[in-house]
Amino acid sequence: MVIDLHTHSCFSDGSDTPTELARKAAEIGISTIALTDHDTSASHQEMAEACDHYGLDLIAGVEVSLKDHAVTRTSSSGDSTALSVHVLAYFIPTDEQHPFQIQLRELRTDRERRNRELVERLNELGFRALTLDYVVALADSVDSVGRPHFARAMFELHPEIVGERTDESWNRVFTDWLGSSGRAYIPKSEKTIEEFVAAGAPHGVVFSIAHPLVNYTTTSSEHEIATVMPGVLSSLRDRGVLGCEAYYGGTNEQTRRHMLQLTRDAGMIPTGGSDYHGTYKTDVLLGRGRSGDLHVPDEVLVALRNARG
Ligand code: AMP
Ligand code: ZN
Ligand code: FE
Ligand code: FE
Repeated sequence: MVIDLHTHSCFSDGSDTPTELARKAAEIGISTIALTDHDTSASHQEMAEACDHYGLDLIAGVEVSLKDHAVTRTSSSGDSTALSVHVLAYFIPTDEQHPFQIQLRELRTDRERRNRELVERLNELGFRALTLDYVVALADSVDSVGRPHFARAMFELHPEIVGERTDESWNRVFTDWLGSSGRAYIPKSEKTIEEFVAAGAPHGVVFSIAHPLVNYTTTSSEHEIATVMPGVLSSLRDRGVLGCEAYYGGTNEQTRRHMLQLTRDAGMIPTGGSDYHGTYKTDVLLGRGRSGDLHVPDEVLVALRNARG
């Protein structure tokens, strides 16, 4: 059996509707899926109905961008800021009045602020035809408009600056413009891992650090992983992040095995997923990841469910 605990729908920056996602998952033999849209669970209801229809088990999830104050980075201007990381949350309450959902709402409000500022910044930098309305219209939901929608708008409106869209030029748009070292980078919320754990963990939400190497390393070499990650993982575990996405679709098998060992050494639960985004990440396969050989074992689910307490 195949499971996939990290996927995105058109309710954030994926291209598939939840129904399409569930249909594709059923087709390739996925038994359990978690839909983890950025900062929103508005996709949950449609996904729950579709999973019922196709006979899939669904875990209600979300992926949030939070600050890790245990790790600081010095910016080009010399300021020291907390590292921004992605955290997956599973078994989330979907009731709108729940404290966890209130936290999500605050993240979305801040995302809207970031998006308005990003439009201004891109306009100043020469992307003059780009408007917020244009970017929002590319997204199928207003809930979680993100940088991949901005990237698409940049290709559609300003090929004279960014060129034609290929996998390579798409990545370059993030390196040169939208990524944390890019010219148009605007930070999002200051919300911390601790705030989210406090709002979710007492209610059975289980947190797992998403794509840990993307968050915490620069080269992802064996040496850097061995040097940096044990300390990072034990610190996260001590702050209530119980899981680590050891089986990540963006890494190779050898790295996954290394991360699995470090996850176990830290006393954390290994989780895993593809980070499927449909046409927003053309090289990532649902259930199979970027290299096509991802296999997240079922046993992950037992530990994850037990962690709910
Ligand atoms: P946002 O939620 O608006 O901050 O955008 C974050 C999303 O942008 C991630 O989930 C990825 O889908 C995408 N993204 C971020 N950095 C990169 C990158 N270097 N290359 C490709 N996609 C990226
Ligand atoms: Zn994304
Ligand atoms: Fe992510
Ligand atoms: Fe993701």
